[in-house]
Amino acid sequence: MTCLNRRSLWITVFFLFASVLLLFSGCQKNPSQMSISDVGFYFDTVVEIKLNGTEDESILKECFDLMAEYESLLSRTREGSDVWKINHNAGTPVSVSEDTVSLIRLARKYYDLSDGAFDITIAPYVTLWDFQNNPGTIPTKDELTAASKHVGFENVQVSGNTVTLADPETQIDLGGIAKGFIADRLKEYLTKEGIESAWINLGGNVLTIGMKPDKSPWKIGIRKPFGAATETAAVICVSGKSVVTSGTYERYFEKDGTIYHHILEPKTGQPVQNHLYSVTILSDSSADGDALSTTCFVLGKEDGIELVESLDGIEALFITDEQELIYSSGFPHQ
Ligand code: ADP
Ligand code: MG
Repeated sequence: MTCLNRRSLWITVFFLFASVLLLFSGCQKNPSQMSISDVGFYFDTVVEIKLNGTEDESILKECFDLMAEYESLLSRTREGSDVWKINHNAGTPVSVSEDTVSLIRLARKYYDLSDGAFDITIAPYVTLWDFQNNPGTIPTKDELTAASKHVGFENVQVSGNTVTLADPETQIDLGGIAKGFIADRLKEYLTKEGIESAWINLGGNVLTIGMKPDKSPWKIGIRKPFGAATETAAVICVSGKSVVTSGTYERYFEKDGTIYHHILEPKTGQPVQNHLYSVTILSDSSADGDALSTTCFVLGKEDGIELVESLDGIEALFITDEQELIYSSGFPHQ
C-alpha cells in the first residue's frame, strides 16, 4: 500500500468515526433542551399545552384525549354529556361521573361563599343570550324574568353520584368553572407522568408546572382589556401557579354604547355592569381560580377584594373600565 493510499484510508476512518459520534450525540439530547407542544380547540376556545424535559408524544396526546373526554362529560350543549343529561331529565334523578359531582360540589362552595353571585344555574339565561352565536339580540325583560324563576342552586340536589333538579326547568352551566377544573386534572396527570415543567393554557386559563427549563419563573402577561391581542396591562412571574382571567372583552357584543358580555347577574340575568373590565385570580388550584375570577367579577371590586383577602393563597388583580389596576395585598406585581 502506498503512503497516499494509507493516508486516505485513515482520513476515511476518521470521518466515519466522527459522523458516528455526531449521530450518537444527536440522540443524546440534554433533557433540558427537550420540549413538545400542541394546540387544539376545545370548550369553544383555543387550548395550548407545552411540555418541557420530554419528547414523549404519547403524554401530549393523552392530554388532548383527556380534554375531549371532559368536554363530552361537561359540555352543556353536547347531547349525552353529564350536564346535558341533568338538564334534560325533567327533574328526575340522573347518575353522573365522580368528576361531574365533585365539580358541582365545588361550584356549590363558591355559591355559598359569594352569597349566590356564582351560580351555575344561570344556564337558562346563557341560552337566552347565546353569546357564542348572538350578533346583537338582547333578550326581553319578560324572557329574563321568566327564566329567573328557575335560577337558584337550591334546586340542585346531589346525593352520592346522583344529581336531581328540584325544578324540572332548572338547568346548569359549568362554563365559569370547568376549564380550571380540567386544567387541574391535566396537571395531576402530567405530574404523575413525571413532568416537572409545563404550561397548560385553556383559552386564557393558564396553569403552570414548575419553572421554565432555564429555571426561571414563567412570565404571564395579563391582557389589557380591549387592547391589541398582545398588549398587556401587567406581567407576573409564577412557578407552579394558576392564573385565570374573567373579562367583559372575552365574549360580548356592543349595542348603543353598552357592552353586553357573558358574565351574568344571577338575580336578573343581565350582564354584570359594575365598571369592571376584568378580574384575574392567582391561585394554586385552577378550578378555584376559575370560579373565583367569575365570582369576584360578579361581586365587584369592593366585595371581590374583600372575599380574596379573606381566602388563603389567593391573590387578585381587578381592572376597571378606566384601565385602573387594583391589586390584592399579596399580589406579586412588579
Ligand atoms: P371564560 O369562560 O371566558 O374563561 P369565565 O370563567 O368568567 O370566562 O366564565 C364565564 C362563563 O361562566 C359564562 O360563559 C357562563 O357560562 C358562566 N357564567 C356566567 N355568569 C355566571 C355566574 N354568575 N355564575 C356562574 N357562572 C356564570
Ligand atoms: Mg371563571
